[in-house]
Amino acid sequence: MKCIYCGCIDSKVVDSRQNEDGTSIRRRRECISCGKRFTTYETVENTPILVIKKESTLILMTVRFFY
Ligand SMILES: [Zn+2]
Repeated sequence: MKCIYCGCIDSKVVDSRQNEDGTSIRRRRECISCGKRFTTYETVENTPILVIKKESTLILMTVRFFY
């Protein structure tokens, strides 16, 4: 992830934490060039998958990702 302060493309993750429902991860990053810290958020791009079953029953499926 690009540093917002110096533009260096390399940073390391110093802390990561999921939100309560597990849909996003907040990462604290530290630039390896200037040493400043910034926060990024990681979310799953896909919306939950809707599977249409017989008789038009909609079942919301939750996709689980393992980190
Ligand atoms: Zn930097």
